[in-house]
Amino acid sequence: MQFDAELLLLAMAPVFLACIGWEAWHLRRTRPGAQLYSWRDTFCNAALALMQQAADKLAWLVIIPVYAFFYDHYRVYMWQASWVSFVVLFVAQDLLYYWFHRCSHRVRWLWAAHVVHHSSERMNFSTAFRQSLMYPIAGMWLFWIPLAVFGFPPKQIVAIVLINLGFQFFVHTQAIGKLGWLEYVFNTPSIHRVHHARNDRYIDRNYAGVLVIWDRLFGSYVEEDPHEAPMYGIVEPLHTYNPLKATFHEWASMAADFVSVRGWRNKLRALFAPPAWAAAYHAGRAAGANVGAAAAASSGATSIEDNHTAAFQTTRRP
Ligand SMILES: [Zn+2]
Ligand SMILES: [Zn+2]
Repeated sequence: MQFDAELLLLAMAPVFLACIGWEAWHLRRTRPGAQLYSWRDTFCNAALALMQQAADKLAWLVIIPVYAFFYDHYRVYMWQASWVSFVVLFVAQDLLYYWFHRCSHRVRWLWAAHVVHHSSERMNFSTAFRQSLMYPIAGMWLFWIPLAVFGFPPKQIVAIVLINLGFQFFVHTQAIGKLGWLEYVFNTPSIHRVHHARNDRYIDRNYAGVLVIWDRLFGSYVEEDPHEAPMYGIVEPLHTYNPLKATFHEWASMAADFVSVRGWRNKLRALFAPPAWAAAYHAGRAAGANVGAAAAASSGATSIEDNHTAAFQTTRRP
């Protein structure tokens, strides 16, 4: 029987569910009153996972032939299946994942999909289930095309992408502390807690998939400080457990900004600038509304540009 790589994460579902059950039981005993799990949050996360799995299954039908096109026509090397080729593929994909993830926090079009993963104010194993069915539209798959050009067959690309995501499930927990020397090599629960935090010193850091060496190499690594607990979520909270709202709220906001903002440069910014541009734009509009129509008129396209270049340097700061 041939294993279908596209179903890897579904096949791992029993392991994921067992971890969630253990963590919920463990945290209730060790941190009573902390309420690190909520049924509504967990069900929302599970719904988002199922929606994303269904969308991905469809998307692979289109994306795999694209990888096959690049593999057949533009590959620069031909790898023999071996442990060496597996390690090269694993490291190469993890590096590409780092840049996909970093871009997802710096380009609003990609953030519109990735924000789903960050919009819960809880952090537990079920948070890993918070994924967006819009990733194929956002273009996550574009980041793996170099692997096809590098000579890896489409099925291997799909498999390594899913192995990487499968590993990342295990870093979404508050039940595990720092892990010694592993913190220097691998993404760990401590490192990923920082990534999900919105504290000033933690925000937009630690983009690692499996290997944290990329964060250390490219200057985005921050260590979890035992004296500063992470505050989870996005700075402008969503306040919803509706998976459809969680999936589409940023896309709706982006479309509204694209329509309302004046000038093509600003329209392009509404789509592709760092997400902080949108926060600045919204803050500018709210301020304009507060001081009346005259002030609102003066807070048009020019002030938006001023705001954009001003204080907002991070993804999740308002
Ligand atoms: Zn992220
Ligand atoms: Zn995460």
